[in-house]
Amino acid sequence: MSGNKVLIVEDERHIARFLQMELEHEGFVIATESNGQRAYERIVQENYDLVLLDVMLPDMDGFTICKKIREVMNVPIIMLTARDEIEDKVNGLDLGADDYLTKPFAIQELLARMRACMRKHNSMPKEAEQGEVLSVKNLKIYTARYEVEVNGEPVELTKTEYDLLEFLVRNRRNILSRDQILSKVWGYDYSGDTNVVDVYIRYLRAKIDDRFGEKYIHTMRGVGYGIKD
Ligand code: CA
Repeated sequence: MSGNKVLIVEDERHIARFLQMELEHEGFVIATESNGQRAYERIVQENYDLVLLDVMLPDMDGFTICKKIREVMNVPIIMLTARDEIEDKVNGLDLGADDYLTKPFAIQELLARMRACMRKHNSMPKEAEQGEVLSVKNLKIYTARYEVEVNGEPVELTKTEYDLLEFLVRNRRNILSRDQILSKVWGYDYSGDTNVVDVYIRYLRAKIDDRFGEKYIHTMRGVGYGIKD
């Protein structure tokens, strides 16, 4: 992890300074930014290996930054939030953040999340080079571009919907339990309601099965979900 460039986006100066000191001590190359709008511009223009993103910021909030960034690039993002913003957890991940940490947090926990996050992203370029295309019946997933088509028509998905669909398609013919789906799509430490899986399955069915009139996502009562060829 040493030498990786990290941007800390945080308007509370004492937190930014503390994180900078701790992460520099671990060998990261740190830049800091306190303004939301400028942070967005810098993330797009400067080449960071990871972004730590506060939620409440002047000029543009962290959720908006995350959403806008995801429209153009795939840099790892960990959101940092105050405890009373915890309900926004699903929201933050849905907008494309890789992980979410509630303040105050232990620096060791942050470091562990950062390592996990960068490992996950570093394994992606291989797929991108291969431009892998997954398909089930009339559905195609272009993994290098995060694009989904059914009958040749594009399907707009959020990051979480996409991750869920890709996971189901990669494991087609298997029925996946909610726990398997949660740990793969939402992360090993997701502690929210397992109903979130059912909610996102409904979103996918509306955008795919219902829209195209073909059944892709199957439910096995009491077990979980799966996609069949
Ligand atoms: Ca703040």
